[in-house]
Amino acid sequence: MTDAPASFPAPAPLDVPPFPLHVVRTLRGAGHEAFLVGGCVRDLLLGREPKDWDVVTSARPDAIEALFPRSLPIGKAFGIITVVPDPDAFPGADPVETATYRAESTYADGRHPDPGTLRFTDAREDALRRDFTVNAFLLDPLPAGGAPPRVCDFAGGRADLAARTIRAIGDPARRFAEDRLRMLRAVRFAATLGFAIEPATFAAIRALAPGIRDISAERVRDELLRILTESADAGAALDLLDASGLLRVVLPEIDAMHGVEQPPEFHPEGDVYVHTRLMLAGLPPHPSPRLALAVLLHDVGKPPTARLATLPDGTLRWRFESHAAVGAVMARGILARLRCPNALADDVAAMVGNHMRIAEAPKMRPAKLRRLLGAPTIDDELVLHRLDCESSHNSTDILDFLVAARARFAAEPVLPPPLVMGRDLIAAGLAPGPAFKPILQALYDLQLEGETDKAALLARIPGLARGPQEKGNA
Ligand code: ATP
Ligand code: MG
Repeated sequence: MTDAPASFPAPAPLDVPPFPLHVVRTLRGAGHEAFLVGGCVRDLLLGREPKDWDVVTSARPDAIEALFPRSLPIGKAFGIITVVPDPDAFPGADPVETATYRAESTYADGRHPDPGTLRFTDAREDALRRDFTVNAFLLDPLPAGGAPPRVCDFAGGRADLAARTIRAIGDPARRFAEDRLRMLRAVRFAATLGFAIEPATFAAIRALAPGIRDISAERVRDELLRILTESADAGAALDLLDASGLLRVVLPEIDAMHGVEQPPEFHPEGDVYVHTRLMLAGLPPHPSPRLALAVLLHDVGKPPTARLATLPDGTLRWRFESHAAVGAVMARGILARLRCPNALADDVAAMVGNHMRIAEAPKMRPAKLRRLLGAPTIDDELVLHRLDCESSHNSTDILDFLVAARARFAAEPVLPPPLVMGRDLIAAGLAPGPAFKPILQALYDLQLEGETDKAALLARIPGLARGPQEKGNA
């Protein structure tokens, strides 16, 4: 075997932004080797816009820092320097992670390279320590003598890219045992690029899936969110996660939806898992994490609440009493386990908890309806509701009603500021306490139903009807 890599011409014209080119040019000018590497090259070859630009070089970290005064040594222990652009010279450019060629480290814990095992090496060994063949390309954007740019392919990624295949470099079981996050990355790349996972690579994931438990919740969360929000078909992505064996480890509550039957008259599509995957498949492109998680979790309360009830005519039917409320509590627990930000967890739990209530909209009093339509999550809630209908009985009556009600309310502010606030209750002589919230809510409802006089609202408070001056005489 020779050390000369296979190489092939880069697509022309090559769309590389000025700052990564500047980093490569500066390193070259100082006599070092330097290439664009990894995902950015893969994406260029696929005609996709790269998320970030990475450079790999023969220069040692100290030499990189010396060449770029604006560099940050955040990853220096792993041989990575973050090179920050001068905003005057490169307006709007992102930093470029610039890594010295390094060898595969040992990973005693399956998560972090062992400290002290960093060893610098050459381009070939650096390429072969990477995770998948399509992630190991090197691109020379500035060849000597003005020759056309070429891609170096040490790992055989060209054929896999053409066949749209995710294949581990080397022995997949060994590579996943080294770093278990690579299993979720494989699913993410397959789902977001629309690739298949090569059979031996997939078999290794199935065998090693329980090891994903050793990966931090934050890293698992980031991969899951990207799988759900960046896949063209998030339903197919869920199926892949399921088939890989990873779903039952990272989201056992979703795995539990398999085989949970539903009344066919409301859910001709099938069990709760099938319903959920259909809804995910119907997500609009680039959904927010909030919408994607709400769709994933909206029926998570069904498996634990499923009961067979006897109808008056003696037939049996599946019921899911309080599944939305149970689901909201479960969603909160799952999102806390995945270390999701509280604001996101609050919104998702509220959407899960509310998703059945929205069906009662046509029967709601005006105040309640206006409150529903004024919720900060309403846009996503309407999409959730639409998907829920489209993925089951397919009736849009309620959605049509809500859209019409929204248009009706659009002429006026959907939710005017409340006339009576907590400080008014205190001024009226009430001691602050747990009764404040229901009182303020009830007064606000009256306001939304047409009472526009503040004194009249205050006069409706039981016990204050005789006026605040009599406080304490009761
Ligand atoms: P994207 O930026 O779209 O997430 P990417 O392929 O660029 O995809 P990054 O996480 O940015 O992924 O990593 C850049 C490159 O570093 C990868 O293409 C791969 O070559 C290498 N890499 C990243 N994580 C790992 C890992 N866990 N094991 C081995 N190589 C990795
Ligand atoms: Mg990247």
